[in-house]
Amino acid sequence: PNNTQSQGKTSGFVDKMKASGKNVVVFYGSQTGTAEEFATRLSKDTKRFGLKGMSADPEEYDMEDIPKLKEIENSLVIFCVATYGEGDPTDNAQELFDWLQTGDADLTGVNYAVFALGNKTYEHFNSFGKLVDTKMEAMGATRVFEIGLGDDDANIEDDFITWKDRFWPAVCEHFNLEQNGVEENSRQFKLVIPENVVEEKIFHGEPARLNSLKTQRPPFDAKNPFLATITAKRELHVGGDRGCLHIEIDITGSKLRYDSGDHVAIFPANDSALVEKLGELLGRNLDDVFSLVNLDEDSSKKHPFPCPCSYRTALTYYVDITTPVRTHILKELADYAADPVEKDKLLFMASRTEEGKAAYQEWVIKDCRHIVAILEDLPSVKPPPDHLCEMLPRLQARYYSISSSPKLFPTSIHITAVIVDYETPTGRRNQGVATSWLKKKDLGVNAPPPTVPIFVRRSQFRLPFKSQTPVIMIGPGTGVAPFRGFVQERDLLRRDGKPVGDTILYFGCRKRAEDFIYRDEMEEYMNRGTLSKFYTAFSRDSPEKIYVQHLLKDNADEVWSILERGGHLYVCGDARNMARDVHNVILDICQTRGNMSETEALAFIKKLESQRRYSADVWS
Ligand code: FAD
Repeated sequence: PNNTQSQGKTSGFVDKMKASGKNVVVFYGSQTGTAEEFATRLSKDTKRFGLKGMSADPEEYDMEDIPKLKEIENSLVIFCVATYGEGDPTDNAQELFDWLQTGDADLTGVNYAVFALGNKTYEHFNSFGKLVDTKMEAMGATRVFEIGLGDDDANIEDDFITWKDRFWPAVCEHFNLEQNGVEENSRQFKLVIPENVVEEKIFHGEPARLNSLKTQRPPFDAKNPFLATITAKRELHVGGDRGCLHIEIDITGSKLRYDSGDHVAIFPANDSALVEKLGELLGRNLDDVFSLVNLDEDSSKKHPFPCPCSYRTALTYYVDITTPVRTHILKELADYAADPVEKDKLLFMASRTEEGKAAYQEWVIKDCRHIVAILEDLPSVKPPPDHLCEMLPRLQARYYSISSSPKLFPTSIHITAVIVDYETPTGRRNQGVATSWLKKKDLGVNAPPPTVPIFVRRSQFRLPFKSQTPVIMIGPGTGVAPFRGFVQERDLLRRDGKPVGDTILYFGCRKRAEDFIYRDEMEEYMNRGTLSKFYTAFSRDSPEKIYVQHLLKDNADEVWSILERGGHLYVCGDARNMARDVHNVILDICQTRGNMSETEALAFIKKLESQRRYSADVWS
């Protein structure tokens, strides 16, 4: 059914391609903007081979149009898709996923390729990209080149470039094309200085709709966040060199609803001192108002971020000025280096040689140089501020596992966040954008209460439907966040006289006296009998490092008996080591206590996952 209009979609993308003489479409499934950036770069590349490309958001078009691509000569569809969470597509690729699942289109004569973006620390590494690749083939499409598997845990930029360098020659061979241009820096947006623009028409940090933060209108979501008041803020650590914030956000009147286990997203702002420094380095009055307008008039994306706005707004709310700068930006920056030595340094680090890659790894990644550090250390590099704003990735919202239960706190959302603050090898101090911004929010008596733009993202991380079902929750560090909500909920049920099953919590941190967060609360739940067991591991209180996974192993019999009784197992926190180690311990327990072979144990865990009896909420 063609319900294009009702869903607010632009139109069939194939008609659009025909009308503008395009033959390559690059769909992106993007959550943090990287996949979208790669899609734009691939679409720009097409020029070099006499093709004409466009990047497109699958949410804006009908995927049912894909079979019609064969009506365009030498046409190609590329998917740059990220895998999110537990092997899921990104929000904007949900319809693409649904369409692939129906699997009944005839794609004979359609040419395609996939570049997948994922992170090896996660179990479901690139599973959505792989699904797109196999489903397209199964429906009869022709794979022009093998899937690229980008790993964000290592160097995804490098994976992308390495794949691209082999991909384009394969495309040329497939379509019998010749490369007729060199890779050059070209802009996608042009600078427009708006004349006589009235104040009401200028954006000030709202993510999409003009003045949406001033005139708040529900429903609130990623494009229309709710400006929530911070009503409480306190430090959870006692001494030590790190900080951890407990924050309470008021959602009264927002119509926002949440469940324990959901995530709240926060739109942060860059540090104002860093923004001022960047303004100085660029030699630009940050109050100047500008617009960036897409040179491709057919593109549905008119601006890279809401425009017009001032440079200060763009550098504060819209672009990322603190992550290590990517090689393609270094390459473009080289055009603006007056000093040939600095120019060569940039080009060398952006080159594909092993030495160049190593230099980039050392000088940018290891030394944690963001754009401000680079412009400071290479003082002859003076990019036009508008081009810099175009090049830099979009500043992303940060997600937090909600640490409260709506049953106990229907009008507030609690957050538990470790503050990111570290010294880089060059002696600079890098502070996490969102956490340092939250830390500075002042709840003084005389000042108006601070606010944060937020939205709620529903998750699948849920307590069992029946309160009698036993649960094991493994949440070291801030991984305890969602379990605080779970325990609050079970405590209420128990006090209401409902039957509540075993509620077992594993918590771990460095030192009992320093970072044992929510200790009093959890001990109180233990005293009241809401927590049936509370196991703690302190890695730095004894000569040998003890982690939650060790305790879990010691309690193998109990873990197995809970699983046998239909219990649920939850893991939250660090994806890099902990979640994997826990997985291995559970695998071991299934083998030794459940008398399974490794293959059987793996299948058993898969089944638990599909029944949502083994859930992970992990981040890296
Ligand atoms: P950023 O500005 O994003 O900086 C963080 C980056 O700095 C890191 O990614 C790393 O690359 C770098 N970095 C950090 N330390 C160092 C170092 N010592 N040396 C070199 N580089 C370093 N966080 C919580 O605290 N609590 C939660 O409940 C929580 N839940 C989450 C749930 C989900 C679904 C996801 C995706 C993430 C969650 N996070 C949580 C992480 C959170 O979203 C942010 O990533 C985190 O708070 C840091 O944000 P920031 O803006 O302060 O730091």
